Amino acid sequence: MQRKVLLFPTYEQALFYRKSHAQANSAGILNISVETPYTWLKDAWERFGDGTKLVSSLERAFIVKYLIQSAKGPEIASALAPTEGVISFVSRFFADVVGSEEYSHALTSQSDSFSKAEQLLLSLIDPYRDLLKERGLIEQGDALSILSKRSLPFSFEWGSSFEIPLCFQRFFRSVAPSLIDDIVTPVQISKVSEPVQPLVLLATGPSAQNYLITKTVHRFLADFQNARESRHSSVFIVSSQAQKLYSYLSRSLPFNDSEKTTCKLYASRPFEETDFGRCFMALKTFLLDESHDLAALLDYVNSPFSGIEPIRRAQVIALVRGNRTLSCEEAHAMIRLMSPHFDTFEELFRDCDASLVLDYFYDVAAEIPEKDQAFRAEQGSAISALRSVYEQARQWNLSPEDLDFALQGLRIDCSCEVSVKGKLEKKESQSTKNDFGANPGHSCSTSFLEDGKIAEVFIVEPAKAEAFFGQHFDHVILCDLDSRFYSANERHDALTTLEKKMGLHSYQSNLQVKRKWFEQIKALAHSTFVCERVLNSGEDEDLYPSFLWDEYLSCYFAPGDLPDRNGLPTSFSKSSQMQCDEDFYDLNANCYFNYKDSLSLKKATQGVLVATDSCPNQLRPELFLSRSHTSLHSNESRINALKAEKLILSPSAIEAYLNCPYYWFISQRVRPQSPDEGFGPLEQGTFVHAVLEAFYKKLPSVVGQSRITKNNVDQAKTCFSEVFDEQLALQESLPSTRYVPVSSLEKAQVKQLKQTLIKNLSVQARFLPEFSPVYTELELSSSDCFEYAGVIIRGRVDRVDVNSAQGQFVVIDYKGSVSGHDAGFDPDKNDSFVLPYKIQSLIYAQVLKQKLPERPVGALYFNYRAQENAHSVAGSYDDAFVNLSGFARSASSVKLNFNQYLSLVEEEVSKRLEDMKAGIIEQKPLCNESCKYCPVTTCPRRLS
Ligand code: SF4
Repeated sequence: MQRKVLLFPTYEQALFYRKSHAQANSAGILNISVETPYTWLKDAWERFGDGTKLVSSLERAFIVKYLIQSAKGPEIASALAPTEGVISFVSRFFADVVGSEEYSHALTSQSDSFSKAEQLLLSLIDPYRDLLKERGLIEQGDALSILSKRSLPFSFEWGSSFEIPLCFQRFFRSVAPSLIDDIVTPVQISKVSEPVQPLVLLATGPSAQNYLITKTVHRFLADFQNARESRHSSVFIVSSQAQKLYSYLSRSLPFNDSEKTTCKLYASRPFEETDFGRCFMALKTFLLDESHDLAALLDYVNSPFSGIEPIRRAQVIALVRGNRTLSCEEAHAMIRLMSPHFDTFEELFRDCDASLVLDYFYDVAAEIPEKDQAFRAEQGSAISALRSVYEQARQWNLSPEDLDFALQGLRIDCSCEVSVKGKLEKKESQSTKNDFGANPGHSCSTSFLEDGKIAEVFIVEPAKAEAFFGQHFDHVILCDLDSRFYSANERHDALTTLEKKMGLHSYQSNLQVKRKWFEQIKALAHSTFVCERVLNSGEDEDLYPSFLWDEYLSCYFAPGDLPDRNGLPTSFSKSSQMQCDEDFYDLNANCYFNYKDSLSLKKATQGVLVATDSCPNQLRPELFLSRSHTSLHSNESRINALKAEKLILSPSAIEAYLNCPYYWFISQRVRPQSPDEGFGPLEQGTFVHAVLEAFYKKLPSVVGQSRITKNNVDQAKTCFSEVFDEQLALQESLPSTRYVPVSSLEKAQVKQLKQTLIKNLSVQARFLPEFSPVYTELELSSSDCFEYAGVIIRGRVDRVDVNSAQGQFVVIDYKGSVSGHDAGFDPDKNDSFVLPYKIQSLIYAQVLKQKLPERPVGALYFNYRAQENAHSVAGSYDDAFVNLSGFARSASSVKLNFNQYLSLVEEEVSKRLEDMKAGIIEQKPLCNESCKYCPVTTCPRRLS
């Protein structure tokens, strides 16, 4: 008597069928096995096989690696290097081809029909079988081939339709041809059947997508809440980005006291994306790769598995990234001391015998604070998966650095769930894969609260959707129906070419498999079936609708019906479609945190961020500014006192604000900075300033005067060279903004800089010969109360050159480039005064009038890289008293009384600083150049 075997794609689906059949039929399932093809084969092979064990995919990968590595001959070595790609390719080849008659024919056929590489591949099959035999293993294809020749007491039927591996297709073709007839019967996509309602969602881009799906789910849940008689509702979502959608949607679940809503994720992620996997891979990279990448070590530090407290983690990361001279050995020793688990991790990388050490990490995962059960279950699965890899590696004498090929394909279940009722009440996971698998249906996974309603939202990645086939959900949403995720293209690679030559082919086309899958997803819907796609990817990539989308919607086109601009049939009612633009980004963000206060702008034009703390409203516009006195505490007296207090600002802050208030706010108040110690313009500029300061302090003692002339320039160059070296030697011990070359390229750059600066001394020897440097790095302290445009100035002037005979001074600001720094003015040529966008020197010149007895005749920027006179200087100079022809462009000359010009600038600055006092930080650039170096890359008002 034959036993009927009902075949399902997954263990979970088979289990669900058994349970629901048992509930509906008290006699149970007699004489029927409900199996997946693999579980049936495993059982059958145990009973009717030759005592060998079916090879697993992990075992196959290790055997393939060994086979390729030990294969003799230069031809094999050049054609099949044991890389991850080759191991995966050959493993796929063995799984598909071993046991087939086509393989035997290929061996006896004309060998010239196969290329050299293909012949090599075919020649590996016998040694592969020998290796399996030595270990008591057998390939599935061989086992099925043996079983197909025995008359077994089984008959087969499909429980549902799904994709079958080639070896099973061969087996069923031989023992149950009608099953193959079923497979090849074409399927057409059709409309939903009554009473299911169709709905389509169109999001303009990825930001709108989450919002649109969430809004749809909220609508379903609101309808359910209003339906008095209904006690249970379910929404089933298939999403290619299931984890992201879960993270978004689970935080925005609506909650109320009469209803319990549960959101469940069914997904998996690669081993290296789990916390444990990431930590393991990071340390493996640091310890075993030749580069000993510090970034990988910091990835380890940042992991909860490092065992370092979060605050200490941040400190260590800042310390390592902030010190470019720290060696790998020093960082290694420091982290070893700080991380309680580091030694144990290091043991793991010594050899693969250390797999027992992995037990330790189950305990570590259990003790990581503030993590829920979902986290612990996921990490536990990752540790177990690594243990299996280590155990295999031990059998094949491989070391930990050889395991990437086996770790690459590992996927770890990360299913979890969250429930809300009244408020967020618990987070818990499906603790193991089996628990999860045992309970994929909604009807038995949640216990009903007395008199309460239950709403369940399932978010499932496409690969796990099969486990739910045959069930029913009120609403089904199939997301991402574009060609990136659902394509009808068949696979084309070297393996498919070889299989085609051998006469091996699948009875299932990708097109038919996907159509059947779509129809089964559609069949899950009880009330609404929703299809969703985005119109733009958000990247530089054209998006096309999936063939599933096109074929499904084409069912709704009546004869003569025309598509609208989104390709939907015009007869498709407006109520059957929802659209959402990227403008919903804000809603998207606020919806994500719908139980938290969101940040908002006080007024669009004013743009002061409203603080959420206890700060009184009246003080909010004043929050970001330093003032001359801040000691009064009561709010009332503080507000009154503010009116009398003056802002304290540096010329660079004023210049930044005038160029654009928002640029000032971001660059000077928010100060986004990389934690990495750099070797860029900031470090170089600071170093050059220090060298020039030290040089001008030393120069008089060497040449007997404070300036360089054509007579002393050679002596000055020698002096400069010494100062440069002294300052460079000091850099490593400086507490901040150091200029420390590490690589040979950086050292060469330093040499180049020194030569450039030395050559520049010749330009300085010719520059303004009547003036001499008198002040370098002249400090203006806020306690000196130098007022400018109604604020107190603090800052440091790079250099002030004085012509004592004429009682004149010029302010000099050192720059690496002076292009665009011209700030002259000619009232005869310009109808009205326009504030220049470089005004720091002008501010200093005006302020120094309060300190120096001389009068200002120039506010200049000097290019310390200039090798010639031309364009070495820019800024503003009094055309009547200063001769800078050959050095500066005429655009820098001021043809107006210089004092008058400085006052004109101050007056304009004063007006604009009123906005700052009012707290205005809107995006309002002064000119194109204002935006050039602005860090606000997404600014909609950017001009350059
Ligand atoms: S990009 Fe331009 S307008 Fe926008 S914040 Fe920056 S400087 Fe202002």
